[in-house]
Amino acid sequence: MAVTVNDSCIACGACESICSEVFSIEDKAVVNDTAVADNIDSVKEAADACPVGAIEVE
Ligand code: SF4
Repeated sequence: MAVTVNDSCIACGACESICSEVFSIEDKAVVNDTAVADNIDSVKEAADACPVGAIEVE
């Protein structure tokens, strides 16, 4: 699984609240790729919760 955050991110922090193992907020959310595999369910939950649809899971 590849997880990316596109430029729509408004740095709201929702994804970090849901899955801090993978997402952290800098200028926008950044992804800790090494943690994705162990947290894929909460990554998908965060993607669904993102208010601007910025999290892409492929
Ligand atoms: S939930 Fe979406 S908009 Fe909010 S910080 Fe995460 S990626 Fe950015």
